[in-house]
Amino acid sequence: MNNIILDTIDEPCKGLLSEVQRHMEIVFELRADGVREYDYQTIERDGNSVPIKGRIRYYEPIESCKIAHELLHAKCSFSLGYDKAIYNIVEKVSTITSRQVLTYEMCESILNQTEHYIFYNEYINMGYESSKFVESISFPENEWRIFAKNYKSDTLSVTDIINLINTLHHILLFPIDNRFKTEIQQLKHMERDLFDAFKRFKKSLPDISLFTEGQTFPLEKQYEVLIKSIDAWCKSKETW
Ligand SMILES: [Zn+2]
Repeated sequence: MNNIILDTIDEPCKGLLSEVQRHMEIVFELRADGVREYDYQTIERDGNSVPIKGRIRYYEPIESCKIAHELLHAKCSFSLGYDKAIYNIVEKVSTITSRQVLTYEMCESILNQTEHYIFYNEYINMGYESSKFVESISFPENEWRIFAKNYKSDTLSVTDIINLINTLHHILLFPIDNRFKTEIQQLKHMERDLFDAFKRFKKSLPDISLFTEGQTFPLEKQYEVLIKSIDAWCKSKETW
């Protein structure tokens, strides 16, 4: 274990670290540019991928809230399920049409943002500031304005569809304040069915504390409903 981390983090963060370490090994390393803050290795056990080792990359100066954020992702790895599990659902319930947009990267991104929504309360309960919850939320405002202005629901390209799904899950599952109010209203008008699908998904998400150990992918049902709705919406478009 990295002593610099242990000497710096506060008690709530230490508590979370011990909780996570009961399930998987955690290693810390200084973050280099372009590398993800958290990832993990899995092994196959009884047909499931089980996380065994998480790697957290930290910034300097070290802040407990940032380490806690990544540890909460680690907690999700063993309590919520993994991107591979969502991708299995995509392969099971989607059609050729929607599979063009529901890529592995898209599933990873949806899972990541779902985790933020689910663990936000736990983060706040640990005593951290909501303004420090994410390093940065880069929303391309200008690009979005142009996209929204030229938007025509009946002539969407595949890129438009990917853009819409990405924007929706990013801002609709973003747990903090009302900063995306305008965009959310725009999206609601643009594509009501897709909007409602994500809204229902968000409503169906439980609190992280409700998850018990050893469950296999407890969000399977919720993801399945979401993937089916995205699929139905994609098929309703003239794009293909
Ligand atoms: Zn995160």
